[in-house]
Amino acid sequence: MAGRYTLSMIKPRAVREGHAGEILSIVTKQGGFRIVAMRMLRLSREQAMKFYEVHKDKPFYNDLVEFMSSGPIVAYVLEKENAVQAFRSFIGATDPSKAEQGTIRSLFGKSIQENCVHGSDSDENAKREIQFFFASHELFDAQGNIIEL
Ligand code: ATP
Ligand code: MG
Repeated sequence: MAGRYTLSMIKPRAVREGHAGEILSIVTKQGGFRIVAMRMLRLSREQAMKFYEVHKDKPFYNDLVEFMSSGPIVAYVLEKENAVQAFRSFIGATDPSKAEQGTIRSLFGKSIQENCVHGSDSDENAKREIQFFFASHELFDAQGNIIEL
């Protein structure tokens, strides 16, 4: 998959407030990312714990798990050249108050925790996170054929 795919989630508060469609529109139209797979679902506490396992020793881990399992999210896979880095710079800094003006987190983020979207931080984690949400037959290339990661 060498750098072409990343996993993103629209977090519970942004879904609850009705921003999912607008966020996806900005990501695809302004950002030039292509949606490869997508699903709306609610994570259980256990699933959120597993997804954020890398942060289990951080002081914000329990709150984060609580928040991420508090309501439905939209999980989706994006394709673009150098997708992981491209998407992280497109969404802006983790803390929305520090995110560059016009980025998604500056537009729809409420706090460092409720920062409206997730983006994978490495190709390795992107693959792990994509496989967390999607089966291999649920990822599609631009022609509608199944993608092998
Ligand atoms: P994400 O992984 O969601 O794309 P990120 O890579 O910018 O965000 P991480 O350091 O991976 O940030 O943190 C994961 C998530 O944990 C953040 O998006 C945010 O929801 C929450 N978080 C991070 N730092 C804090 C903090 N200091 N206080 C509260 N929540 C935090
Ligand atoms: Mg992260």
